[in-house]
Amino acid sequence: AKELGRNNYQFFTEALNMKVQERLALENSLRKALEREEFMLYYQPQVDLKTGEIKGVEALIRWNSPERGLISPGVFIPIAEETGLIVPMGEWILRSACIQSLKWRQPGYPGLRMSVNISARQFREPQFIEKVAEVIKETGMDPQWLEIEITESIAMEYAEDSMEQLRRLKQLGVRIAIDDFGTGYSSMNYLRKLPIDTLKVDQSFVQDIGIDENGEAIVVTIIHLAQSLNLKVIAEGVETENQQIFLRTNRCHEMQGYLFCKPVPPVEVEKYLHMGNSS
Ligand code: C2E
Ligand code: CA
Ligand code: CA
Ligand code: CA
Repeated sequence: AKELGRNNYQFFTEALNMKVQERLALENSLRKALEREEFMLYYQPQVDLKTGEIKGVEALIRWNSPERGLISPGVFIPIAEETGLIVPMGEWILRSACIQSLKWRQPGYPGLRMSVNISARQFREPQFIEKVAEVIKETGMDPQWLEIEITESIAMEYAEDSMEQLRRLKQLGVRIAIDDFGTGYSSMNYLRKLPIDTLKVDQSFVQDIGIDENGEAIVVTIIHLAQSLNLKVIAEGVETENQQIFLRTNRCHEMQGYLFCKPVPPVEVEKYLHMGNSS
């Protein structure tokens, strides 16, 4: 039994070492990825539920590593957060999204909102607001077309500091969206005071439509809450016709999800823009 115990222990530490090593290797490739230009932004359209028009796009990062292939942001964003790499990476994301947005602001194209995700570490970085201001200035981005997405949990954590940070951000003239709404712990009183423009209904609730009445009730409640606070409400992760009908019936403003379009490279978005604009 003693022998077995030791073997198990060895097996365990080896497995652990592997993990640590894999993780270190991944961290190293991630460090190089930015200068090697291995990142790309994909864009997912946000569609008006009444008119079918594309009102905006959300920028979503993709990493195509020559050694590892496509790696999901769900895997590398947390590592980028822990290592602090998210700060330069986040600046690259914001700048690239603004440059893309300006390319789409040519005559003949309707105005498009550009939504950019900001992670916790980026948001808490002392220089964050200055960086955003700098990118806006350097790219010539019109801030009213830029929407910054912050998750509900980030906005609710360190409430006082977050409120102050959001106010400073708002002063730049950008829009602010609360992402993954419904999964955090917003106090209504706090929410009411936040300088925000949009609530994004978390996809877990959207996926409950037609399946779970409690989830449906949450979706409806968030839509009503947004309307009474005069906020735009966008449902994310919309995959079925049934979900779309439910959202439209309950007067959700916009939807985003595989039903309409997956996140795609810029050229693919342009096909939609031509379509929406050809009449
Ligand atoms: P998120 O901001 O909540 O983004 C929504 C995620 O849902 C995206 O996954 C999107 O591809 C996916 N999605 C869109 N429509 C559907 C649908 O109909 N069904 C399902 N099942 N999923 C759908 P993605 O691109 O893998 O990103 C995952 C998360 O990684 C994002 O969640 C966000 O937290 C983070 N992330 C992605 N890009 C960035 C970025 O540029 N900066 C930062 N800070 N985080 C990012
Ligand atoms: Ca988002
Ligand atoms: Ca989300
Ligand atoms: Ca999410």
